[in-house]
Amino acid sequence: MTALRDSSYYFKTAEIISVGTELLIGQTVDTNAHFLSGQLTELGISTYRHTVVGDNESRLEKAIRLALEDNDLVITTGGLGPTRDDLTSAVVAHIAGVSLVKDTAVDDELKRRYSDKSRFDFSFYPTIPEGATVFMNDNGTAPGSLIIFLQSDQRKAILMLPGPPDEMKPMFLKYVTQAMEPFCRYRFIHRYVRLTGIGESSAERLVRDLIDQQDDVTIAPYASPGEVVIRVSQRLDLNSDVDLTAAVIEILCDRLGEYIFEVGPRSLEQVLFDLLEQKQATCAFAESCTAGLASAILASVPGVSGVFIGSIISYSNQMKHKLLGVSQEILTVEGSVSESCARAMAAGCREKTGADFALSFTGIAGPSGGSDDQPVGTVWIACSGDQKTKAVEFHFNGNRERIRKLAVYAGFNLLRRSLLDL
Ligand code: AMP
Ligand code: MG
Repeated sequence: MTALRDSSYYFKTAEIISVGTELLIGQTVDTNAHFLSGQLTELGISTYRHTVVGDNESRLEKAIRLALEDNDLVITTGGLGPTRDDLTSAVVAHIAGVSLVKDTAVDDELKRRYSDKSRFDFSFYPTIPEGATVFMNDNGTAPGSLIIFLQSDQRKAILMLPGPPDEMKPMFLKYVTQAMEPFCRYRFIHRYVRLTGIGESSAERLVRDLIDQQDDVTIAPYASPGEVVIRVSQRLDLNSDVDLTAAVIEILCDRLGEYIFEVGPRSLEQVLFDLLEQKQATCAFAESCTAGLASAILASVPGVSGVFIGSIISYSNQMKHKLLGVSQEILTVEGSVSESCARAMAAGCREKTGADFALSFTGIAGPSGGSDDQPVGTVWIACSGDQKTKAVEFHFNGNRERIRKLAVYAGFNLLRRSLLDL
């Protein structure tokens, strides 16, 4: 391998091939590709494709040859064991044009480890493509290996790793990363701009020109309920490039500022918690349609007891009246899904709990219970603080679960804005 090393040779793109019929018949989930893609990103290598192939010699060979056409590095996992369906080593040696050999260090280690276990016959297994760098398997018998070879005058690399994740992952982290570093020339920078209160397509529309013009910096929005994340990525050449992401983030902040709650890794609940802590303020919730979801999500943040007093789950009108003091008049005349009810719930919650801020949620999560006036997805949310109570009517789309989640995040954002006097 050393003979093939020079400073102009590095891994730029990779394909991950997961080998195993169990993956194709739905018996096992391909978690290896997921893990390895994350690792390659850390190493500045772009993963161009994931492939899954069964334990079949000709299809495996075809898959590896195809992968080598488009990539400098091909990573296989699986098919390294001693049984008849473990074909990867033989196929890779054939493609690299080398023979399969025994590795003395591996053999010695396996003999030492399994000396008293007659069930293992290491006379023919494991074998490694000649000239490969070998990685010991601390949690099993099949070693990994990295072979670099010439194919039509081009250097190509195949990294073989065992299939069981509890063997593959430690091997990768302990031995492989280090061996790959000299072949890594890039580093990825990923920055995240997080928005709430705006949908993915509306957010995309506001930055479409930037997405269309993108060259060195990639801008990609993706959405989950209650949040749109815009990922700003750049692949830096460690030898020459400068970080261009900060300038793009600045433009995004200019255009989308009112929706942005975080430039960084924090979730909305984490941002809210940090803000409450910073302002030394407490909060409590009066939850009807969310029925505890707001509390559960906020309480997923460690240390929340310092800022979160508790919540009153007042699902029925009776509970809204009894526990929060919402008047019968409001409940009968205006109804439980109304501005007055939301305001009264928040005020009552603040009074009963003694919290600095109280959020209330009342709405129709569906699928039944909607009307022409108040369709499913109508949710009133109020935030009561010492200065004022703010109430907002929302119309969310989606199923029951999604509507409840959107309500929670809209409420968190209302509270965040109140804390910031926005
Ligand atoms: P093998 O090395 O092909 O004999 O794989 C042994 C076992 O590792 C399989 O039976 C699976 O349980 C597991 N395995 C193999 N490939 C994967 C993969 N891509 N993702 C998750 N588990 C896997
Ligand atoms: Mg297998």
